[in-house]
Amino acid sequence: MTQYAISYDDIVQAHARIAQAVHRTPVMTSTTANERTGAQLFFKCENLQRMGAFKMRGAYNAISQFTPAQREGGVIAFSSGNHAQAIALSARLLGVAAVIIMPEDAPPVKIEATRGYGADVVLYDRYKQDREALGRQLAEERGATLIPPFDHPHVMAGQGTAAKELIEEVGELDIFLAPVGGGGLMSGAATAVRALSPRCRIIGVEPEAGNDVQQSFRKGEIVAIDTPRTIADGAQTQSPGKLTFPIIRDLVDDIVTASDAELIEAMKFFAARMKLVVEPTGCLAPAAVFNGKVDVTGKRVGMILSGGNVDTARLAQFFG
Ligand SMILES: *Cc1c(COP(=O)(O)O)cnc(C)c1O
Repeated sequence: MTQYAISYDDIVQAHARIAQAVHRTPVMTSTTANERTGAQLFFKCENLQRMGAFKMRGAYNAISQFTPAQREGGVIAFSSGNHAQAIALSARLLGVAAVIIMPEDAPPVKIEATRGYGADVVLYDRYKQDREALGRQLAEERGATLIPPFDHPHVMAGQGTAAKELIEEVGELDIFLAPVGGGGLMSGAATAVRALSPRCRIIGVEPEAGNDVQQSFRKGEIVAIDTPRTIADGAQTQSPGKLTFPIIRDLVDDIVTASDAELIEAMKFFAARMKLVVEPTGCLAPAAVFNGKVDVTGKRVGMILSGGNVDTARLAQFFG
């Protein structure tokens, strides 16, 4: 028994459940990055995951465990983007109807992709409206099951499978890093890393402008902040989750931050040197490493490139 929302066993079961539907993404390396940092870096390319982010793992794991009555009522999700797409695509693959609540200022590519997967999209104002209340109201009206973007055991266990695959492929690590929004990815990943590479240091990376989890981690209790303004739209959360935070508090060794300028610099590196499109939030972990936020000298360092969904117009602005 565990006091946490998920155990490593849940991640093993999630992995078996989702294996047919998600990609086992490649782990890439770069001699240039290794030389620049003096470390051996392993990039788990979830930017190459189906629909473009690790969120496919948690979403598919959650919907595939619906009861017949839940399948009938459909699924509802609120999200700044990738979770919405993941729920929409997973629902379509599993033959379940999906309603997605998205902020009206979400990247257009994410809104369009979500509609493209056949979901019914409802837009809201993220600076004025409470999306969780809206989600509960719509769920009640339609008899649908709400799957939150991070604070749900099936979502957390699904996300953890990315770290499981990384360590199964490259072996034990000295340091593991992942971006932290609401902590779904990190709570699952930390659970997997502690089981598979017990001596590994686990580091979360947040946007500098929105360090709610860093503040919570230092205080030992959940701290809420205003919606941060950052290009890392996948990590624009106001606080870690009630289920994700205890795991992060106890299993993670440190939380560091990266600035928007550092994210853009990392995006350019991946495009130019590794021919990879990585979205701003997906660059949090490597940006922290490239900018010396963590001492990686001589270490084996694994990290999650969490997503690759970015408008080409925005990409051109960033790279201009
Ligand atoms: C959602 C998301 C994150 C943050 O994940 P959490 O589970 O909310 O911590 C990081 N990167 C990308 C690309 C995402 O879509």
